[in-house]
Amino acid sequence: MLKGKKVSSKNSVSRDTLVAFLDSLLETSKIKDHSCNGLQVEGTGQIKKIALAVDASMEAYRKAVELDCQMLIVHHGIIWGGIKSITGTVYSQIKYLLDNNINLYASHLPLDLHPQLGNNAGLAKLIGLTSLKPFGLYNGLEIGFEGKLVKHLSLNNLVHLLCEKLGGECTVLPFGEEKVKRIAVVSGGAAEELDQAIKKGVDCFITGEPSHPNYHAALEAGINVIYAGHYHTEKPGVQALGNAIRNRFGVPTLFTDIPTTI
Ligand SMILES: [Zn+2]
Repeated sequence: MLKGKKVSSKNSVSRDTLVAFLDSLLETSKIKDHSCNGLQVEGTGQIKKIALAVDASMEAYRKAVELDCQMLIVHHGIIWGGIKSITGTVYSQIKYLLDNNINLYASHLPLDLHPQLGNNAGLAKLIGLTSLKPFGLYNGLEIGFEGKLVKHLSLNNLVHLLCEKLGGECTVLPFGEEKVKRIAVVSGGAAEELDQAIKKGVDCFITGEPSHPNYHAALEAGINVIYAGHYHTEKPGVQALGNAIRNRFGVPTLFTDIPTTI
């Protein structure tokens, strides 16, 4: 533990200590998920620098190697529902990681719903939501939040705020009141949770990825929906996790921004 010591780029942490810290912080073993969360690919035992990315990809691995990182932490890993085969792109990715001795750690739902570091906590903070309550039942867990803005905001201003802070573009279904106050957020691909937002009677539902069936459902219910991008709504948690690791161990962490168009 390096608490109280001067932070230096010479600091390092063992892989096992870091994995135990992440598993405990994110309560990895308690959260049921299709993603196999935790250390997915084992690399070198001592970590001096850590890269973080939203998605596991060859581009992210190459950047990690270029930046001399020994671990890559991602929100979307490569092992979902267990290993069925190691072929095709999965083979290429695992081979590259093993050849370069890179650790790959993934945290999906645990990083969506973490009350302080999570993607949804980050989104709520970013738009200034208060009086937060868990929202968005998925896989038996509420992974997002509903809350209130301190005062009413025009839908246009809310969209601009999201675009500016997250860096992407929004798709909007402007079918509710022009001024919004009560808002529900669920990061990523949570369009199916629109029904829950309608039942709660919020003014606006924010998620990442658009879904075609949402159009008439939102129109008929008279609710505003903002899709702020699957990728962009899942950056806040990854970035917050990098900060938490840096603060805890004094090891440099780098967010590698590799946006998708989705
Ligand atoms: Zn996602």
